[in-house]
Amino acid sequence: PTDSEQSSQTFESTPKKTRSDVRTLREIGRRRTFAIISHPDAGKTTLTEKLLLFGGAIKQAGAVKSRKTERKATSDFLSIEQERGISVSSSVMKFNYKGYEVNLLDTPGHKDFSEDTYRVLTAVDCAVMIIDSAKGVEPQTRKLMEVCRMRNTPIITFINKLDREGMDPLSLFEDVEDKLQIECTPITWPIGMGKRFKGVYHLQKHSLGLFAPGYSPKDGDGILINDLDDPLLDKSLGKQAEELRDDIELIEGASDPFNMEEYLKGSQTPVFFGSAINNFGVREMLDSFVEMAPPPGIRKASTRDVAPDEPAFTGFTFKIQANMDPAHRDRIAFFRICSGKFTRGMKVRHHRINKDVILSNATIFMAQERSNIDEAYPGDIIGIHNHGTIKIGDTFTEKEPLKFLGIPSFAPEHFRRVLLKNPMKTKALQKGLLQLAEEGTIQVFRPKINNDYILGAVGVLQFDVTMARLAAEYNVDAAHEPVDLSVARWITCENEAKLKEFIRKNEASIAIDSEGWITFLTTSEYQLGFAIEAWPDIKFHKTREYN
Ligand code: GDP
Repeated sequence: PTDSEQSSQTFESTPKKTRSDVRTLREIGRRRTFAIISHPDAGKTTLTEKLLLFGGAIKQAGAVKSRKTERKATSDFLSIEQERGISVSSSVMKFNYKGYEVNLLDTPGHKDFSEDTYRVLTAVDCAVMIIDSAKGVEPQTRKLMEVCRMRNTPIITFINKLDREGMDPLSLFEDVEDKLQIECTPITWPIGMGKRFKGVYHLQKHSLGLFAPGYSPKDGDGILINDLDDPLLDKSLGKQAEELRDDIELIEGASDPFNMEEYLKGSQTPVFFGSAINNFGVREMLDSFVEMAPPPGIRKASTRDVAPDEPAFTGFTFKIQANMDPAHRDRIAFFRICSGKFTRGMKVRHHRINKDVILSNATIFMAQERSNIDEAYPGDIIGIHNHGTIKIGDTFTEKEPLKFLGIPSFAPEHFRRVLLKNPMKTKALQKGLLQLAEEGTIQVFRPKINNDYILGAVGVLQFDVTMARLAAEYNVDAAHEPVDLSVARWITCENEAKLKEFIRKNEASIAIDSEGWITFLTTSEYQLGFAIEAWPDIKFHKTREYN
């Protein structure tokens, strides 16, 4: 029953908890937590801005800065990081749209920071994939999709830049289906493209959105038509009406209709067409997105599955961001709430270090600011100030010792040896590297046979960023030099004796990472293959979970 239906007689006998339970359920049901996945330049920044405009989170275009400079040089990246450090807010953008609480999680654009992106994807319930209509599926899209597949994250597709000449829509469908192994089903369909781009036809609503560059359609702007034979179609589209009729006939025959179950499993993606820069087709996508996309769901933890409507508070950290403002040397842990309700000042258990923590100053992120919050619900991301006690993958709960699973670390592909310029700074170096490793900025290995610090990264830019941060935040002057390594695997073995034997016989290739995992470091895939063949009992892992 709604609140007003609860008459005064039942009200008194209704325990307070039930009323707040109902509230919590409603709050969970209206949350949509997602990320945008795309290859650089497909239009993520542009689309983000339009979504925020619709959500009223920003007032004018141009407020969302393209992070393109990240792709150029480390110095650019660092200065941008510095800016971001001060206004961390841009990492999570919260807005309200048609009664839904939408949390949009930003992902780094540069491929060298893709590990960060992968972890952000563990904290979302759904994703929007942007495809550039001229380019089709690009490499970064492919990689991100692989990560989404690990958790069967439901995906909505936005095919962008229809105002330009691109591939024809059916070929785009084939490209996506072929390269990403996900079935496409159109929700809107484009009428022409480039110079002949007339708009989109909504297959479910039987409405027509007509395109005019630079014009942002408002709600109810679409022209409703009865069916494809409606003369209004010819009036609006002229010769292209006939093309649309043919297209729709063809596409309806050739693709399955939208199926909620298939979408939620991640095996079918509803597709929208538009032009982000012209804010065209975006509202259609957003309208369907809030309706189709799932609210927070069940999450896997080490001992059991956790449902969002469980009363006890639980959640995990998926990202740590250093506040680069030298005046505030704290770091912010980005924490995804999985169940229960957050209230300011609540006490939670930090299980890894076995301590209670008071969450007194959690932050909620808005597009342009951050503000302290009093309560938050499953699906929300809160920022917790952190003085080095929280790391990626940490689970907090009210009591029950749980550990959320699936926050990955990937075997690095690039390696460097650290050269410390001032030997008096060994301690500071050690501390700095440990903290940067906990943040996921870099991976750190200590070889068994010497005192080197070997750095591992998925992208080479991470090395320079690490050096710059060591200097700025830990006052450590260090450099990095090449080292003859190109493959790392975490190793485990059920047979303790065999593991010991392997370590003894391969001492020169063994290192311990910053979390204490035994790692096999070697020069080539060939050498790795050789070891795998020679040691069938040893398991070589390309990914590992955070402890
Ligand atoms: P990101 O790298 O994915 O964040 O991409 P951006 O949003 O920065 O867009 C990359 C480039 O594509 C920019 O120059 C945009 O102005 C342009 N762009 C974005 N959307 C459209 C569109 O719908 N049509 C055209 N023609 N260009 C677009």
